[in-house]
Amino acid sequence: MTTLAIDIGGTKLAAALVEDDLQIRERRELPTPASKTSPALRDALKTLVQPLQSQAHRVAIASTGIIREGHLLAINPSNLGGLLHFPLVQTLEALTGLPTLAINDAQAAAWAEYHAIADETRDMVFITVSTGVGGGVVNDGQLVTGTGGLAGHLGHTLADPNGPVCGCGRVGCVEAIASGRGIAAAAQGSLAGCDAKTIFARAAEGDEQARRLVADSAQVLARLIADTKAVTDCQRVVVGGSVGLAQGYLSQVRACLERMPSVYHVELSPAHYRHDAGLLGAALLAKGEKDDIR
Ligand SMILES: [Zn+2]
Repeated sequence: MTTLAIDIGGTKLAAALVEDDLQIRERRELPTPASKTSPALRDALKTLVQPLQSQAHRVAIASTGIIREGHLLAINPSNLGGLLHFPLVQTLEALTGLPTLAINDAQAAAWAEYHAIADETRDMVFITVSTGVGGGVVNDGQLVTGTGGLAGHLGHTLADPNGPVCGCGRVGCVEAIASGRGIAAAAQGSLAGCDAKTIFARAAEGDEQARRLVADSAQVLARLIADTKAVTDCQRVVVGGSVGLAQGYLSQVRACLERMPSVYHVELSPAHYRHDAGLLGAALLAKGEKDDIR
């Protein structure tokens, strides 16, 4: 069977056909409509899926935001503008006539990463550190999404009660400090206005402020991983995202974690998939059994 998988991000929309052996073909992309209105998103999705839908048996969507009963909601309203209550599943079912599943993109990626692990792991947490910080929790071999879709939004746990205001409205979230946007926002003086990629490059060249900004992010992530271990007793934490996979970052996180008491230590590994984890995870969930999710 073939799944038409769709990835809805804050800046781009992607779609591809995914076979049951996870081969991806006919990948297409469009920018997320700048207006961020429901009719504009519906039109863009229609353009994206029309050339692919006749070859597919089902639709699987991985999307930024919270997915609750097939609707797209935003934890950070500035990411999605006017798309606060977009009926994602209903829209794609109407456009394609195919059964449709929708899930948060980090939860989908967690499921793809879980399937990439070859060992006996049953409890795993995936954390992506990129523009924001997202996550997904696999508990006893099932993906935990929660009744309201919020489970695994690890970026919105507390890092520093005196920290910066997060996009979600809360003060001091992990995302507000550890994410690429958080790293860039904390830069001052010679680094003011630089993006995270530039700050990582300057850190590699030995710039003291850049090194400190990267170290602060890694420290916050290590504390999050220790908290996550305490909450879930996971056997493995998989870290992805452009910041999470940046050269030398994971080894700094590991060093911070190793300085904590051993009860918080957990196997850390880099994500197996880079850009396609959302598409693949959603496709895997769509073809899987209903009891893959709870
Ligand atoms: Zn937050």
